[in-house]
Amino acid sequence: MSGLEQRRIMQPSAYAIIEPEEATRLIMGNVKAMEAEEVSLTQGIDRILAEDIYSSLDMPPFDTTAVDGYALIASDGLDKRQITGEQTAGRISGLRVEPGKAIRIMTGAPLPPGADAVIMVEQTSEQDGILEVQSRPSLGDNIRPRAQDIHEGQLILKAGMLIGPSELGLIATTGRASFKVVRRPRLAIVSTGDEIVEPGQPLEPGQIYDSNRFSLMSAITRAYAEPVPLGIAPDTEAGLRALIDEALQNYDGLITSGGVSVGKLDLMKDLLEAIGTIHFGRVNLKPGKPVTFVTMEKDGQTKPIFALPGFPVSSLVSFELFVRPAILKMGGRTHLQRPMVQARLLHPVSHSAERNEFVRAIVSLEYDTTSQSYHYTARTTGAQNSSRLLSMLGANALLRLAPSDRFLEEGQFVPAILLEQGEA
Ligand code: AMP
Ligand code: MG
Repeated sequence: MSGLEQRRIMQPSAYAIIEPEEATRLIMGNVKAMEAEEVSLTQGIDRILAEDIYSSLDMPPFDTTAVDGYALIASDGLDKRQITGEQTAGRISGLRVEPGKAIRIMTGAPLPPGADAVIMVEQTSEQDGILEVQSRPSLGDNIRPRAQDIHEGQLILKAGMLIGPSELGLIATTGRASFKVVRRPRLAIVSTGDEIVEPGQPLEPGQIYDSNRFSLMSAITRAYAEPVPLGIAPDTEAGLRALIDEALQNYDGLITSGGVSVGKLDLMKDLLEAIGTIHFGRVNLKPGKPVTFVTMEKDGQTKPIFALPGFPVSSLVSFELFVRPAILKMGGRTHLQRPMVQARLLHPVSHSAERNEFVRAIVSLEYDTTSQSYHYTARTTGAQNSSRLLSMLGANALLRLAPSDRFLEEGQFVPAILLEQGEA
């Protein structure tokens, strides 16, 4: 043992407890977006836009038909018409519709000049080049006029948006083959603890397998960032220091788990205090109270370090509340918070009288026959120990219970943060 390990004694934490909102404010004031890079349409999936996208064209770019049928003149009414040709998609036929005439037309084909309506094939019959219509066409029927959906110069997507199916399709619609996105933040992950062992290795007495690294890798990926696992650090100053240095040298930030409590070998806070700025070291939160946020200057850049508690649920809940929005901001996203709803408890809940508790729950929309309306209901996922990762399984929400709500009765409404749907 050397340095910190020897000097350190077990004593209550010296860090002030702050409210979760204050923790979020401190984090958000200290992280910023990565630089932009250009990607192709195929590379753009699940990336975050770094530029506003304006349409360079009208959509559709020409008057066209929404159906297969006949382009004609509405005022010819129910009269028979002579078919003078055919207009398929993707070319200009040069044909023109004259009074008493019609042109066969396919969906997506340019509307021939002269036509002011299209009648769908299902409402017609055709024999020996003569068209009979079964209903009277009206002006504009089945025509998609130029610029009906998008007009040239229109702002269609804003910087900070996540590129999903509709966003990517819209960019392609404008003809762009590449566009600017924010570089994905690369976040190093370090698990700490002398008892922590790599899965696949034999387990000696007193040891447990590393689960946090893998949970956090998944959570980081779902926040559209790139996780870089650096391995397991022992509870020694030198061991921790080596991995922290490696992380800050090569990556945009660091997420650690374990070693932030008040045990003799919980060295993280002392070590981080020596090398960076601790913005907070305790939050009024359950689970996750010792969550710690630090920034460090490295090569002219401010890099965040999130030191999460070791218990698997504590690390995931504190990730969800504090790290996820921070990573989204680093990734350039403007929409950072999860949706919240009010949910009616399906059973009584008692909880911590001192702390804001974030209880894992299954929230669903149900029809209430008494009030004849829909509302959200909540059922907790059983025992809420911070060691019990099974309490996260299937949970699609965190119920936020304030310290004053010590005993909650069945039927009471509580705020619920909606997470991605879990596997039930
Ligand atoms: P700590 O925050 O280091 O005091 O750890 C709290 C609890 O979480 C202890 O029971 C640890 O064994 C456990 N723990 C710490 N790190 C991990 C990890 N990476 N995977 C699973 N459990 C862990
Ligand atoms: Mg530990």
